[in-house]
Amino acid sequence: MTNPWKKDFPILHQQVNGHPLVYLDSGATSQKPYSVIEAMTQYYEGYNSNVHRGVHTLGTKATDGFEGAREKVRKFIHAKSVQEIIFTRGTTTAINLVASSYARANLKPGDEIITTVAEHHSNFIPWQQAAKATGATFKFLPLEADGTLDIAKIAEMITPQTKIVAIHHLSNVMGTVQPIKELAQMVHAVGGVISVDGAQAAPHMRVDVQDLDVDFYQFSGHKMMGPTGIGVLYGKKSLLEQMEPIEFGGEMIDLVDLHDSTWKELPWKFEGGTPIIAGAIGLGAAIDYLESVGMDIMEAHDRKLATYAAEQMSQIEGLTIYGPKSERTSLVTFNLDDVHPHDVATVLDAEGIAVRAGHHCCQPLMRWLKATATARASFYLYNDESDIDALVKGLKKTKEYFGHVFR
Ligand code: PMP
Repeated sequence: MTNPWKKDFPILHQQVNGHPLVYLDSGATSQKPYSVIEAMTQYYEGYNSNVHRGVHTLGTKATDGFEGAREKVRKFIHAKSVQEIIFTRGTTTAINLVASSYARANLKPGDEIITTVAEHHSNFIPWQQAAKATGATFKFLPLEADGTLDIAKIAEMITPQTKIVAIHHLSNVMGTVQPIKELAQMVHAVGGVISVDGAQAAPHMRVDVQDLDVDFYQFSGHKMMGPTGIGVLYGKKSLLEQMEPIEFGGEMIDLVDLHDSTWKELPWKFEGGTPIIAGAIGLGAAIDYLESVGMDIMEAHDRKLATYAAEQMSQIEGLTIYGPKSERTSLVTFNLDDVHPHDVATVLDAEGIAVRAGHHCCQPLMRWLKATATARASFYLYNDESDIDALVKGLKKTKEYFGHVFR
């Protein structure tokens, strides 16, 4: 059966190196449907203007588009209020905001920030540096061999010293989904907060921040069919209200005096400068697209593809798959014999197949896996089994090729 959604993505209908493009790198960035590209073009062609300032018609239209996108995000993750939705440049900026503002103001020596070795650098270094700056202890939850967490084993690590648990929702290397709701309950029982890196989860599964009861949640537009340069920090209003901004000027200002100033209310307090207007409008259009498909359908589709890929790829002799045997979603990370993953990706590229190779911004995890690098195929709505069959064929070809070279 042909994929019913692929037609909505113009970029996918091209040849690369003489072969139809097989795009298996959505974990790095996703492709964009026509509707997202059109929404941004319409803004630039029809009502490009700054927001919250002019009283003129274009300014009002731009403000409505921008704030309308915030409401779409609120609904998408089921936040209580638009005051809890801060637009940022992406996941990285959103995490840094929490680590630079909340963590630095609330931590002291003896307190603990707890994370895992499986974090993307963007959810690792900000906390590592906040711990260094405040004298807090930086600790790691033990992972099972497949990257999952055993809640029973970690219970004793979460104590009244635990002030922040910072963890991924869906791993960009292992494809593991972490038990965020259970973790949030454990962290709240000792008076701490939980901050969740949702960069990989938000594109692939229904996220309900109230049901998960997370304190902070971050994600990027570009991984969920939206443009680059826009992302979201969700924070509980009571926490965001206590926090100081880290960027000053422009949009976030209320009153400015010679020796002191005051800030606008939430969410604008954290949005210094001219905001990412076209980006937010594009993200709003991406959310409309995702909702038109349905996040439940999306999740089932991406799980099915990841499971099928893992099954097919595990039949290739000499291929190692990282992460859980079942219960994986959206991606498969692997190594093929002792062929360097960059070489694997290069041979696949010659076949028109785009995969990612390297450390995936997870150097501590690579050391834990005892791998210098890995290759990763990641899937999204516009992929289907035929893409995975092409990958498997390409991998067999890679094996043959390197067999010849080494012989
Ligand atoms: N966390 C995870 C799990 C990711 O996969 C990524 C992107 N690869 C990020 C954080 C950072 O996202 P961004 O580059 O959009 O800020």
